[in-house]
Amino acid sequence: MAIDFTLSPEVEAIRQRVRDFIQTVVKPAEEKIGDPDKIERSSYLKLLLQMRAEAKAAGLWLPHMPKEWGGMGLGHVELAMVQAEAAKAYYGPWVMNCQAPDEGNMHTLLHWATDAQKEKYLRPLCEGHVMSCFAMTEPEVAGSDPTLIQTKAIRDGDDWVVNGHKWFISNARRAGFAILIARTEDNPERPQAANTGFIVDLPSPGWTRVREVGTMHGSTGHSEIQIEDLRIPSENMLGGRGQGHRLGQYRLGPARLAHCMRWISQAETALEMMVDRATKRFAHGSLLSEKQGIQWMIADSTMELYQCKLMVLHAAYKIDRGLDFTSEVSMAKHFVANALGRIIDRAIQVHGALGYSTDTPLANMYQHARWARFADGPDEVHQMRIAQRTIAAYKEHGSSRTATGNLPI
Ligand SMILES: Cc1cc2nc3c(=O)[nH]c(=O)nc-3n(C[C@H](O)[C@H](O)[C@H](O)COP(=O)(O)OP(=O)(O)OC[C@H]3O[C@@H](n4cnc5c(N)ncnc54)[C@H](O)[C@@H]3O)c2cc1C
Repeated sequence: MAIDFTLSPEVEAIRQRVRDFIQTVVKPAEEKIGDPDKIERSSYLKLLLQMRAEAKAAGLWLPHMPKEWGGMGLGHVELAMVQAEAAKAYYGPWVMNCQAPDEGNMHTLLHWATDAQKEKYLRPLCEGHVMSCFAMTEPEVAGSDPTLIQTKAIRDGDDWVVNGHKWFISNARRAGFAILIARTEDNPERPQAANTGFIVDLPSPGWTRVREVGTMHGSTGHSEIQIEDLRIPSENMLGGRGQGHRLGQYRLGPARLAHCMRWISQAETALEMMVDRATKRFAHGSLLSEKQGIQWMIADSTMELYQCKLMVLHAAYKIDRGLDFTSEVSMAKHFVANALGRIIDRAIQVHGALGYSTDTPLANMYQHARWARFADGPDEVHQMRIAQRTIAAYKEHGSSRTATGNLPI
């Protein structure tokens, strides 16, 4: 088996181009934007759209999509490297049209939509003409267990009529359509097969945005949605009846990994800020970087970041080869989400009061990083599944090896 971590000259060139683009186009525009709540709306939109136009013109558009959809046609290993560069700037993924939740929705539509649905919804999403949202989580029941979903769709002639309640639906206020998960089956053979996916045109009568949910990092576009007698034509069903869980699983593999790639980028930024500060700040007779307590924080963060990168690359490698990637993505998601929080926390510690202030991006990064540990599968649910697979592997093979990446080691 060949193990090769080098990039082909073509992919290395792409990575370099993304890096340059982020440095020369996105970061300067971000500086001009400053606080998006304080800049005039039309100037803000102009700057955003200009960055997108430049990304498209430079061929740095849709790194996760095949070329026939206007994308860069990268495999997941290559994507890991390119997306980590893009996420070095806050607007990087959005500018290249590979941001959540559109990126996950594109994967879902690519694999589940009919040709007509692809033309109507995937095409404009890829072209950047509309945005989308994914509506699954409900306030009344545990989002980590989709068998509990209560939003119900009932067949009525050629339509489905939906009633229910969703919340934390990212991007709903800007979306031209939603992928909605609702219960259609009363007594499915397996509890997982109760739900079905639908595409909802937005706005639609019966779909009401009640409010933006405030969060610990402000109100940032996660909506609460009341659904009352929403009519969806049957041709807008996505995948088959009772296939909602498979649809979710399909989107969550690559989408979770894409989150990891963005988190790695954030963790790297935090580590570099930690080192930079430690090499400049002097206390008690030496620079912080010369103190063992600080070196341990740098060393722990470095080792964790290295583990993050290897785990993500290996999970991406398995997706690229059509191998079962569920466990590897689960382990990577759990590990990277937690490492991200620890590394930013240490960077704040090394910065002292400055780290706690809003004069550096660390405080904002820390607030954003907190949701990583429960969205797209809480830590404990991933741990439960990881443990189940390890126990099953041991029972079947007398060894845990297949559950630890199935590596030849
Ligand atoms: C910023 C952000 C954006 C989001 N965007 C979207 C979106 O666009 N669309 C959407 O549908 N949803 C979205 N969500 C919701 C997200 O997917 C849910 O928060 C997630 O699925 C967990 O569901 P829950 O919040 O209901 O927590 P619950 O399911 O109530 O879980 C709460 C806690 O219970 C514990 N727990 C759960 N199960 C177990 C177990 N088996 N063993 C031990 N402990 C357990 C865990 O500690 C978990 O954190 C978003 C959330 C956030 C924070």
